[in-house]
Amino acid sequence: MRNIPVDHNNSNSNEDNRFVANPSLRIDHVHLKVSNLQNSIDFYQSVLGFRMVQKSLDNNISYLGSYEPGLDGVSSLLVLSQIESVDSSVTSNPSKIKREAGLYHFAVLLPERKFLASFLQHIQENLKPQYYEGMADHAVSESLYLHDPDNNGIEVYHDRHPSEWKWTGPNKIHMVTEPLNVKNLLNSESYGTWKGFHKKTSIGHVHLHVSNLPKAKKFYQDTIGLYHTAAYPGANFFAADSYHHHVATNTWIGTNILPNSANNLSNVGLDHFAIQIPDNKNGKDSLKNQMIGNGISIDENLLESEYREESSFYVYDHDGIKIQFIFS
Ligand SMILES: [Zn+2]
Repeated sequence: MRNIPVDHNNSNSNEDNRFVANPSLRIDHVHLKVSNLQNSIDFYQSVLGFRMVQKSLDNNISYLGSYEPGLDGVSSLLVLSQIESVDSSVTSNPSKIKREAGLYHFAVLLPERKFLASFLQHIQENLKPQYYEGMADHAVSESLYLHDPDNNGIEVYHDRHPSEWKWTGPNKIHMVTEPLNVKNLLNSESYGTWKGFHKKTSIGHVHLHVSNLPKAKKFYQDTIGLYHTAAYPGANFFAADSYHHHVATNTWIGTNILPNSANNLSNVGLDHFAIQIPDNKNGKDSLKNQMIGNGISIDENLLESEYREESSFYVYDHDGIKIQFIFS
């Protein structure tokens, strides 16, 4: 099957010289701005199965994860913050698509297929239909799609074993969008009742609306150093070493869109997403130099809630989408 268009622009000739992201890179967390924090907490706990990790004293920000805080450290996958004032037009029409660069969806990666089966059964019984988006088989993975009360897109998926993935060229992965075989998922797995996210759950990737695919590609491939792993009509996929994608970009809502309003605290949507890179002493400096060399400015004004991230900074992509790098 050759459903992935060949990308003739992606010459590998410069690849040896360019900056390459650390292969152990991963998405650390996603930070969303929501119109009603308590509603969103209820949604992410009861419908998705997140657990509360920490709630700030002033109640304007909450940290959710896949397990409750324990001695082995607290890790939040999703940070929710309350916007300052509610623009009623944002929430009064849930079908309204924001014409703004930002989040298409963030994707929650389940460690085993049986968890996807029990999650599917759980949402069939408990998800209000207005939050349901669809499902798909992407060859490398099986995915369910929904959105939260503020229309922030969510994917919940599991990966097929990497030995089943098809690589079509150096760092080029075969992915498709086909109907999910629901019967097979629900019949072939012995799964129990949904009990919330397993502790090995992570954020597998983020998928972004951008205004310009080549500019986004320059940023995610050349500046961050990810491999361009696949192209769909209107979309590109990027990953660190041997994953199918950690970041995707698309222009499916058009190219004439507003920049992301990351720091506008009266808009719902993506505040930022965070990429964690294991620090090998000069990793932070070499990425910083790579950013500065590409004309990207570094923002070290960490949010108050992120002072705990000692070795961290923000950058903004071409569309104003805010990215935090965490070195640990
Ligand atoms: Zn996705």
